[in-house]
Amino acid sequence: MTVDPDLFRAIALDDLTMPGGWCVSRGQTYLYTPEEQRLMHEARAFAQREILPKAAGAQRAVREIKARHDGAERRARLREIAQAYLRMLAEAGLTGALFPEAYGGNGRGVVAECIIDEELAAAGHPGDTIRSVSLTLGTISILRYGTEAQKKRHIPRRLAGEELAALAITEPQIGSDTSRMQTRAVLKGDRWVITGQKRFITGGGLADYLTLFAITETGLHPHRGMSCFIVPMDHPGVRVRRQLDEVIMADWMDNALIELDEVDIPKENLLGPLHGGYQVLMDELDTERVTYCMASLGEARRALEIAAEYSTKRIQFKQPIAMFEGVSFRLAGMYASLDAARQVTYRTAKMIEAGLPAQRESAVTKLFVAEAVWKIVDDAMQVLGGIGYTTDFPVQAIFRNARLMRIGAGSDEIMKFLIARELLREIKG
Ligand SMILES: Cc1cc2nc3c(=O)[nH]c(=O)nc-3n(C[C@H](O)[C@H](O)[C@H](O)COP(=O)(O)OP(=O)(O)OC[C@H]3O[C@@H](n4cnc5c(N)ncnc54)[C@H](O)[C@@H]3O)c2cc1C
Repeated sequence: MTVDPDLFRAIALDDLTMPGGWCVSRGQTYLYTPEEQRLMHEARAFAQREILPKAAGAQRAVREIKARHDGAERRARLREIAQAYLRMLAEAGLTGALFPEAYGGNGRGVVAECIIDEELAAAGHPGDTIRSVSLTLGTISILRYGTEAQKKRHIPRRLAGEELAALAITEPQIGSDTSRMQTRAVLKGDRWVITGQKRFITGGGLADYLTLFAITETGLHPHRGMSCFIVPMDHPGVRVRRQLDEVIMADWMDNALIELDEVDIPKENLLGPLHGGYQVLMDELDTERVTYCMASLGEARRALEIAAEYSTKRIQFKQPIAMFEGVSFRLAGMYASLDAARQVTYRTAKMIEAGLPAQRESAVTKLFVAEAVWKIVDDAMQVLGGIGYTTDFPVQAIFRNARLMRIGAGSDEIMKFLIARELLREIKG
């Protein structure tokens, strides 16, 4: 008797044929201006056509480079992947939404950036993390606080993918409590001398420059004695001590522990006002939090779409599992959370775009979205069952990223702390 080979064939990712983005509700697009709607369709078409088919291959290449190479060779090869990705986006006009034309951008704004973030993240290219740290986290402060010379020197090159940047706040001894920052910068003549360590720096091992925070005045409360600097990574005294991405996750592109040993940089590398670094940091974090939320929602959307389509194809107990209410209600809950989380992110993006103070709203958004994304992706894995836990499907990678969202860029608890502080401040008046 010959056994029908189809009996042994599990559903593969390739069997899911729905185009990405099918589950975005009309309610969301209704909120967008016609121009933003156009951008959403263009960015989605580009991401699905040009990026999605290359993402898995790029992921494999990253893993192979990290397994086979270290030092300068590893840096050069990983940079090549990140820069090729950025160049492709630059050519498609997808890197400059947060930046005016004068510096090589297109000035479309924060909402536009969020729309692009969602679509690119949904395509799952490993270079996308480097895109967001280099173009948003590491560069937005230059736009807001930099001198004309700093803006002209760095922004156009970064938008074109020629120069990479990373953001350096966290240290081995400090994470949530930035007021205890240990890295010091001392002015000696016309040069700043910086000493300290920065941990968990995404893209730090690939970057050309760090946007780095250090204490410049020890006599004051650290929030009044912190400053921001542009630090070249190839400067004597700057050293990547450890590549943390091996520990963090195999397909994470780059995360570094960086040591700064008496790094003396010109006085002009101060970014923003002397001792005014805390404000620079808070402004950067508000934007980072909304763009991070939208990218995470893009990944969660992909997980939901995969789970929903899979549930219509996977047969158990003689019917597609989508027919069981236990599965379809789970999908409904995931969809409702995704929809609501996108609305709150959009609201905060609009506030930042309008130049309104949005610290509380960014914290609310980050807290709500991080919890929503975590639950959506966890549910997606449940719908997929065992296959969701394997590398045959991207949901396990999205799952790990979703967990990070509840820690990175300020943990859930720190978001609650910020919200409660502002809430109670209002009672006190
Ligand atoms: C993969 C990855 C990438 C990262 N990328 C970057 C980067 O590019 N640049 C950068 O500067 N940093 C980066 N970080 C660091 C990240 O922002 C920190 O990990 C985060 O801010 C938390 O700090 P911590 O890990 O030191 O935890 P801790 O601050 O030690 O906190 C440990 C626990 O205590 C809780 N806690 C702390 N204080 C309070 C409080 N007051 N009330 C209640 N609970 C509290 C926290 O919520 C957390 O649950 C990255 C981290 C990771 C893991």
